[in-house]
Amino acid sequence: MFNNLSEKLDKALHVLKGHGSITEVNVAETLKEVRRALLDADVNFKIAKDFTTRVKEKALGQDVLTALQPGQLMVKIVKDELTELMGGDAEGINLSGTPSIILMSGLQGSGKTTFSGKLANYLKTKKTKKPLLVACDVYRPAAIDQLHVVGGQINVDVFSDKGNSNPVAIAEAGIAFAKANGHNVVIIDTAGRLAVDEAMMNEISEIHKAIQPQETLFVVDSMTGQDAVNTAKAFNDVLNFDGVILTKLDGDTRGGAAISIKSVVDKPIKFIGTGEKMEAIDVFYPSRMADRILG
Ligand code: GDP
Repeated sequence: MFNNLSEKLDKALHVLKGHGSITEVNVAETLKEVRRALLDADVNFKIAKDFTTRVKEKALGQDVLTALQPGQLMVKIVKDELTELMGGDAEGINLSGTPSIILMSGLQGSGKTTFSGKLANYLKTKKTKKPLLVACDVYRPAAIDQLHVVGGQINVDVFSDKGNSNPVAIAEAGIAFAKANGHNVVIIDTAGRLAVDEAMMNEISEIHKAIQPQETLFVVDSMTGQDAVNTAKAFNDVLNFDGVILTKLDGDTRGGAAISIKSVVDKPIKFIGTGEKMEAIDVFYPSRMADRILG
C-alpha cells in the first residue's frame, strides 16, 4: 500500500535525518522533494503546494534549524500535517436509527457491493448488529445476484425484488422488511455507472430523499487518484454524504486519493477496503495511515 509514495518521502526526508544541523536551503530542498513525491502520488497541485507551505511554516516556527535532531523533527511535522490532511481523528458511522439506514453510493466497479457485504459482516461480528442488505441496482440483474452471493458468504439476509424497476420502492420495501424481521441495520446497495451522469445522480438523490438515511457513504476506488477526488466532489454536491469509503488500497501504490479527498470534500474517510475478501475492511485512522506512509 502506497509503496511508491513511502519510498519517495523517505528519500526526501532521509537527507535531513543524518544531519546534526541543517540550513534553510536543506529544508527548502527537502520540501521540494516532498512536494514532488505528493504530485507523483497524484495529489492535486494546490493541495501539495499548500501542504509544503504549512510544513515549512511549522518547521521554521519550531526552530527546526537549531533543533538537536532536525531530521526527526521534520519527519514528525510532516507526519502531523499528513494526519491533519487525511482527517485528524477517526470517525465512526451513525447507527442511531431503528433500523439504522446506510445508503451506499458510488460509480460502478468502485467496490460498492463488495463493501456493502464487508460492512454488514463487520457490523454483525464487531457490533453484534443484525444487518439486512438491500439490492437496489435495477439495471444489472448480475449485481443483484452478486449481493445475494455476498450475503450467503457472510450469512446476512438480502432483500431484492428483481421484477421491480423502481429503486425507491425497493429501498422502502427493504426497510419495511427489516422492521418486520428484526433487522436493526439496513445497508442499501445502489446502481452505479461508469462515469458521473445526470440520470445516476437523480436516481441516488431520489432514493436519498425518500429514505433519509442516517449515514450516506460514498465508495471510491483509491487507485483512481485525482479522478476519485473529482467523483467524490460530484457526489458530495448532490448528496452531501457523511463519509468516504476508499477501496482497493491493497493495489494502490500512490495514495493520492487518500491524501487529498478529505480536504476537497471536507468529509472523513471512514473505512478502507484492502482486498476482495469479506474480512478485508479496516477503520480508517489518519494517524496510523500517516505512520504507515512515513514508515
Ligand atoms: P460495484 O460495481 O461498485 O458494486 O463494485 P464491486 O463490489 O462489484 O467491485 C468491483 C471489483 O473490485 C470486484 O472484482 C471486487 O472483488 C473488487 N474489489 C472491491 N473491493 C476491493 C478491495 O478493497 N481490494 C481489491 N483488490 N479488490 C476489490
